[in-house]
Amino acid sequence: MDVSDSQSDSHIITYSPAYTLVPTYECFNRCSYCNFRAEAGSSPWLSVEDAENQLRLLQCQGVCEILILSGEVHPRSSRRKAWFQLIYDLCDLALSLGFLPHTNVGPLSWEEMARLKQVNVSMGLMLEQLTPELLKTVHCYAPSKIPEVRLQQLQWAGELGIPFTTGLLFGIGETEQDWWESLNAIAQIHGEYGHIQEVILQPYSEGTTEIFHSQSFGLNHLVKVIRKARQILPLDITIQIPPNLVDTVGNLPQRSSALLACLEAGARDLGGISPKDEVNPDYPHPHSYRLREVIEPAGWKLVARLPVYPKYDSWLPARLQRVVERWRIGDR
Ligand code: SF4
Repeated sequence: MDVSDSQSDSHIITYSPAYTLVPTYECFNRCSYCNFRAEAGSSPWLSVEDAENQLRLLQCQGVCEILILSGEVHPRSSRRKAWFQLIYDLCDLALSLGFLPHTNVGPLSWEEMARLKQVNVSMGLMLEQLTPELLKTVHCYAPSKIPEVRLQQLQWAGELGIPFTTGLLFGIGETEQDWWESLNAIAQIHGEYGHIQEVILQPYSEGTTEIFHSQSFGLNHLVKVIRKARQILPLDITIQIPPNLVDTVGNLPQRSSALLACLEAGARDLGGISPKDEVNPDYPHPHSYRLREVIEPAGWKLVARLPVYPKYDSWLPARLQRVVERWRIGDR
């Protein structure tokens, strides 16, 4: 696999060839814009055996990252331990089959995060927006979305030395001032620990099963946010945009120019490209060849990357370093 540090060449746009495993869709939060969650009891948990069957089919297909993405079981639930163990076991399985796990399953205890560091090359949690005002609206029934809890997760990841992806969600009722405050908070935490490898700038995009139903976040606003984010965030943090949420409106030339406008504003990564976007199931990911068709005539080069950036390889436990090294040298 051709792998690049996206910051070393300004004409390189990266993406991660990925596949998503969902341990469960059940979630004790009820974010009103959610198109993912299911009620407890209505979403059977993924078994390790089923996961293994899925992953074996992916071997030698170019997929590198296994994204473990889950709804949340309440921290005080008697089922939390089993939920966490399943997540750990799925990561361990993915590693044993030569893949690189990246887990994003909501806020964790310190001990849970420390354990998952042993089986993840990077981890993630969206900050979404820092303003507590959203707790009165879209996050009214979502205790996991308390901003201080999420900031603390970013801090713990830094203290534990975990390469981390975070991001903001735009268009859920926050103000413009909130955007800059949230970005500044990420910049500040990264200044302390140096562990944030990417920040996702995700435009809210209306889905079919949510209850929020608002207008999708406009492209002109997104371009403005990317430009300002590039000024606020340290240069060693890559700005990621989800191409399936940008590349949706209008005819083909219009859609292409939307993506290009985001790149020109400073986005340099397109995130995990997998068969299905589990969080935004109404917006399928474009195939990498389609992305190439759009961006390469404009002078950009699309390059696959690993879910851990090279400068963080030495942060990883020895077992993980060995698997990453095989991908770096193309022995996969
Ligand atoms: S957005 Fe995430 S935390 Fe909120 S309800 Fe959906 S799955 Fe749960």
